[in-house]
Amino acid sequence: MLLWLLAGQATAMESVQVQLRWQHQFQFAGYYVAKEFGYYADAGLDVTLLENGPGQPSSITAVALGQAQFGVANTGVLTAFARGEPVMAVASIFQHSPMAWVVRADSGIHNLHDLVGKTLMSQQPREQVAELLSPFVLEAIPLESMTWVPSRFNIDALVNGEVDAFAGYLSNEPYVLSRRGVPFVTISPRTYGVDFYGDLLITNSQLARDNPELIKRFRDASLKGWRTALENIDGTARLIKAQYAPQKSLDQLRFEGEVIREMVMPDLVTIGHMNLGRWSRILELHQQLGLIPPQASLDGFLFQPKVQAPSSPVWSWLAAALGLALLIAILVIYQFMRLNNRLSREIGKRQEIEKELRSQAYTDPLTGTGNRRALMEVGHQRFASAVREDRPLSLVMVDVDHFKRINDSYGHDVGDLVLRHLGDLLHQAVRSSDFVGRLGGEEFALLLPDSGLEAAMATARRLKSRMVQKPFELNPHESIAISISAGVVSRQGADSCFEQMLSRADQLLYDAKAAGRDQICRESCVSCPLPKLPNDPKVRPFPDLGDRQKS
Ligand code: GH3
Ligand code: MG
Ligand code: MG
Repeated sequence: MLLWLLAGQATAMESVQVQLRWQHQFQFAGYYVAKEFGYYADAGLDVTLLENGPGQPSSITAVALGQAQFGVANTGVLTAFARGEPVMAVASIFQHSPMAWVVRADSGIHNLHDLVGKTLMSQQPREQVAELLSPFVLEAIPLESMTWVPSRFNIDALVNGEVDAFAGYLSNEPYVLSRRGVPFVTISPRTYGVDFYGDLLITNSQLARDNPELIKRFRDASLKGWRTALENIDGTARLIKAQYAPQKSLDQLRFEGEVIREMVMPDLVTIGHMNLGRWSRILELHQQLGLIPPQASLDGFLFQPKVQAPSSPVWSWLAAALGLALLIAILVIYQFMRLNNRLSREIGKRQEIEKELRSQAYTDPLTGTGNRRALMEVGHQRFASAVREDRPLSLVMVDVDHFKRINDSYGHDVGDLVLRHLGDLLHQAVRSSDFVGRLGGEEFALLLPDSGLEAAMATARRLKSRMVQKPFELNPHESIAISISAGVVSRQGADSCFEQMLSRADQLLYDAKAAGRDQICRESCVSCPLPKLPNDPKVRPFPDLGDRQKS
């Protein structure tokens, strides 16, 4: 509530002075209505309408000097602007000027040319009646070919024959002359193609720069007043008589109202509208009259309030469009990221599968050791690096003794389990850098990098000891002890490829078999002592001694 009250205080009525062109009459109807109908108050404006009269400074001067914020003026304001006075046009109330030459009907004057050599009464200075002078220029009638008398603002001079023509207002003199029974003729500049704006709302250019919002508020409220005023001429006439011009008859005010309505043309033109093209023509005619220098321009003459960005519909549309574009961008990015994630997952899965397939291609499915292909590839790699780095490389080739009989005695499935058990023992006997591979059937090979012949022999013996310690458990009550024969070789300087090592190991294995099995043969083909079989009744030696002797 307090804030609201403070805000109310802050926007307290702004005091505004408006300098009218003349005494109160229908000519200023819109301003009276805006004030009396509260349009100004609604806009936060406390408006004072100041009358003018003969001998007083013009409304243009009052506005230029800052004595009034606004003024009602004719196109003379353009001349003042061109002179550098700080004035500008805010709105054109009258689309046409009501000024015309008024002559007596019995004068024999019917057109401009008839005025040559005659005496004309008009306002001073000339810029006040530019629209009445322009037709002479366009008709190539020199202004010097007439006698000019300054106006006393009284039609008597025309009635009593003192002057031949009087610069008057279509909204005023025709009414007065009709009332007095004096027949008359009007000569309008529009007949000669001169169509100036009539009454204008003007303001101080400095004020317009400092407070454009005030100008806009006053203008909008005034134009609203004008619309209301012209919608009901009779009501407006009554209001003016009651509040502003009691000396005028209602009849005269109504007449004035009708003529002004024709000048404003509210049914055809938005009240206040100004057209730059028309202003350019008006400027041109002023220049032809010599009232404005040729190089003068209209820049800064017309009030054009800068539209506030946030309230502009263009900006809101732009903001909405930007927002929409942003939303679409976010959606596109989101979709893209989702697709990207899905692709990444897919690629990951495929890489996993590839890895799996690759490992399957190199793994023996029964024992989990490397297969023959893996053994050959790894053998070639290790052989090459051993040669390159001049390091030892050993190979142990292993074959199960009388394996055929295991199959025959216990079945092929048990044979498989025995091979699997042997695979485990082989892995346990070697280092992580060593390679275990199944050459086929019950034949295996150990590839031992950085191991010399003695180290390889030690590994082979370790394997045999493990086989003794861990016989294959057929069931909780029965185990099967198997024996192996092995050939052990080390890379020799003469070896040119891995196959040469394989071939020598194979020969030594054959030698071990030939020498009675259950033994390891190394390069020199010296049989190595074997660990003793455990004296456990649960473990059945295989093959048994009898078999062994037979073979
Ligand atoms: P030696 O002491 O001379 O090596 O006699 P051995 O019976 O072990 O040798 P041989 O090469 O004559 O027989 C090998 C047997 O191994 C023949 C084959 O049935 C069996 N075998 C080969 N591969 C597999 C397998 O994957 N599973 C099973 N259960 N047996 C296999
Ligand atoms: Mg065998
Ligand atoms: Mg074999």
